[in-house]
Formats: sequence, C-alpha cells, structure tokens
Amino acid sequence: MKEIYDIAIIGGGPAGIFASYYAQLRNLKTCVIESLPSLGGQPNTLYAQKKIYDVAGFLGITGEELTQKLTEQTNIFNYDIFTETTIKEIIDENDIKILKSNNSDIYAKTVIIAIGNGAFNPRKLAVEYGTDLKNNIDYFVTDINKYKNKDVLVAGGGDSAVDWSIAINEIANSTSIVHRRDNFRALESSVNKLNSSNIKKITPYLIGNVEKAAENRVKVTLSKARDKEIKSEIVVDYLLVNYGYTSDSKLLRDWGLELTGPYIKVNQKMETNLPNIYAIGDVAEYDGKLKLIANAFSEGPIAVAQAQNKIYPEKSYYEHSTNLFDNI
Ligand SMILES: Cc1cc2nc3c(=O)[nH]c(=O)nc-3n(C[C@H](O)[C@H](O)[C@H](O)COP(=O)(O)OP(=O)(O)OC[C@H]3O[C@@H](n4cnc5c(N)ncnc54)[C@H](O)[C@@H]3O)c2cc1C
Repeated sequence: MKEIYDIAIIGGGPAGIFASYYAQLRNLKTCVIESLPSLGGQPNTLYAQKKIYDVAGFLGITGEELTQKLTEQTNIFNYDIFTETTIKEIIDENDIKILKSNNSDIYAKTVIIAIGNGAFNPRKLAVEYGTDLKNNIDYFVTDINKYKNKDVLVAGGGDSAVDWSIAINEIANSTSIVHRRDNFRALESSVNKLNSSNIKKITPYLIGNVEKAAENRVKVTLSKARDKEIKSEIVVDYLLVNYGYTSDSKLLRDWGLELTGPYIKVNQKMETNLPNIYAIGDVAEYDGKLKLIANAFSEGPIAVAQAQNKIYPEKSYYEHSTNLFDNI
C-alpha cells in the first residue's frame, strides 16, 4: 500500500528541516524532499564555513554547524528523507497531493514548499569527462573527511572555493587552488588566510582537460588564462569544482501558484492560493518579509499548525513543546 504522509516538505534548507522537526513534534507523519545529495540548503551549500551571527542562541555558528545542529535535532525522529529528488509537479487527486519527481511519486495530504530560490545546480566544468572520473570530481562537499590525507585541487575563485580550500587544507595531504584570475573574489579575511597558508595557488590558469591517472587519481591539465600554449599538469585524488550555482524557480510557474516576482505569495497563515499547500522560508513572500533564517524558523510552525488543523481539526491548534515531551 502506498504511504500517504500528513505533510510532505519540499526543500531541505533551514526552513524545511525545522518545519519537519516541528511537524513530528506534533506527531505528524512527515517527509523531506531535497534535490541535493544532502540537507542544509544555502548555509550548507553556499557558505558552509562562514559564521552566521543572527541565529538565536548562537554567538556565531557556521553554515555547516547550523546544518549539523538542525539535522541532529530532527534525527531524533524516524522520518523519511528523499535526497537527490527534485519535485517537478504537484497533482491534486481526491484531496491527496501527488508529488512527481525524478524518482518515485510521493503522496501527501498537505504540502509545505520550502525551496528557497529553487533547485541549485552547480556550474559544471567546461570540459567533458567520462563516468570513470565521477568519484574523483565533486561539485559539493558532502563529507569533508573524504579529503583526509588526500591530494585535493579546488577550482574557483569565490568565497566558497577559498573557504573550502582553507577547511580542506586542515586535513588533506596537500591542497591546491586554481583560478582563472590572479585575484580571488572572496572575503578579505579569507583571502588573507589563504595567502598565509601553504595552499598552492595556481593563477591565472584554466582547466583544459581532466583524465584518469594511475592509482585511481585524476590528472588535470591547466592552461594559462591569457596564453593557452603555456600548460601545466597536476595529479590529485580529488578535484572539487566550486564555480558557483544557478538556481531555478521556473518550476513554480507550472504549479499554478500565485507568485510575487519569482516568489510564492502567502497570507499570514503561510497559505498559498492552492488548498493545503503552504510556503515558508525564502520562497514565501508577504509584505515586510525578511529573507532570514530566523524567519524561516518561525514560518514553519505556522504552516504546520495550519496543515494539522486541516487534517486533524479535533487536535488542539497549538501546544507548547513543554507539554509534548511524551512524543520524544
Ligand atoms: C552568502 C549568504 C549569506 C547569508 N547569510 C545569512 C545570515 O547571516 N543570516 C541569515 O539569517 N540568513 C543569511 N542568508 C540567507 C539564508 O541562507 C536564507 O534565508 C535561508 O537559507 C533560507 O532557508 P530556506 O530553507 O528557505 O531555503 P534554502 O536554504 O535555499 O533551501 C532550499 C532547499 O530546497 C531545495 N530545493 C529547491 N527546489 C527543490 C525542488 N524542486 N525539489 C526538491 N528540493 C528543492 C534546494 O536544493 C535547497 O536545499 C545568507 C545567504 C547567503 C547566500
């Protein structure tokens, strides 16, 4: 028999993770669907090593640490997480929502959309390579320990590339960074850290080719940005490409949602124009909206309370968590 969730949450950023925790605290059967290989959204993908100073209770917490704390808290429950699953369509059939994705269909009574700026897609290497290099070339850091005692080349010149090369350098055997310009476009303090580290900077160079090397490594051929005849080679265990991300909110237009610009228009109850579909976090728009993690956290419980009220009107609309200890 097919599983029907009380709430399906689309998007595993701060808004989606916390909403799923809160929904389960209220005993609702929940799943989280995330297009990336791991949860965390923007803080984990775009600024994992940067400190955030406006999350209540933390005097500075990095994007990666915040993701760990959020997932740790939510993982006390047994809920379903579908990663590498992008929702493409929501169909309404006899009051059940059918969520169509690149994987199996997901069924739910209500849906909370928490997709931020839309599905992230990493900008890919401009050169083609075979599937034999799939394990050597990364576009996301899903587990930094993978790079422990390894030789790593980071490609890119922005905050993310610089921050990851500094973090990886603490555990790797060797770290290099290749950028097509001489200057890095990252926070000054991060660039200073990079400059005073033993990370090998290869600038201004472009990646010309990648091929499999002995011992399951990758050989990267580099050519000088302004004189492609000047070439260099480096053999590493891993190439981490950090050329930034594009995000795609085009899908929303096909879902029949009322939009304000690229965002979903919601009322004070986080309701969209479609029945039993709510939106929270960066994707939700209303007068006075601030796109902050603090708001993403507060909007989740509002949407969950509304969803619960629709599915189980006999239950009390809201409870203090101090009265809910029996659920944990
Ligand atoms: C550089 C930077 C610094 C920032 N600093 C701060 C700060 O200091 N303080 C602060 O409060 N905020 C900060 N922000 C903003 C903060 O990160 C966002 O407000 C927050 O991430 C919003 O959370 P969210 O869950 O709504 O969206 P997101 O974090 O964007 O998460 C949405 C998730 O949904 C997934 N998704 C999208 N489409 C689909 C789909 N169709 N199917 C399945 N999954 C999908 C995405 O892959 C993503 O993981 C910063 C943002 C940036 C870029």
